[in-house]
Amino acid sequence: MELYLDEIPPEGVDVDVRLEKGDPALQDLDVVDSVSGSLKVRKVGLQVLVRGQVAGKVRLRCARCLKDFDLDVLEEVNVELRPLMDLEGAAPDVELETDDLDVEFFRGDCLDLSHLVAEQIALGIPMKPLCSQTCAGICPQCGADLEKGPCGCVKEVPDERWSELLRLKDSLK
Ligand SMILES: [Zn+2]
Ligand SMILES: [Zn+2]
Repeated sequence: MELYLDEIPPEGVDVDVRLEKGDPALQDLDVVDSVSGSLKVRKVGLQVLVRGQVAGKVRLRCARCLKDFDLDVLEEVNVELRPLMDLEGAAPDVELETDDLDVEFFRGDCLDLSHLVAEQIALGIPMKPLCSQTCAGICPQCGADLEKGPCGCVKEVPDERWSELLRLKDSLK
């Protein structure tokens, strides 16, 4: 879905975006169903502020047990879109407080809101997705599914002298 800049009234406009599964904007995501975004789009000088939220269900692979599962993604949207000419040295005419904002760029006189919604959904996906916080995963030695119970492999007991180092290593992750 595209929104032309001159379609945005001074007070801003509410836009509902719905992307069906199979939409080209979703090509990098394995969505289970359509995704949606409720956005408030407002012009501030040459920039455009987009706020609201996106929601969708995404199929992911658990980082521990490697099984597929579906995750409901609900992500707050707080994006500042800058015209691409900013990159060529023209300063934006209004300085915005950008601490809590994602800054992105747009080209021409038209915003690609489908792409923005897809990107925001992607941002809501954890780096290490887990099917559940308590997922037991698989045994690193025999590969057994530990959700179904212990596999009988003997856990290696780390040498006491190393435990402090291991704790340090964990805390750095
Ligand atoms: Zn899992
Ligand atoms: Zn095992």
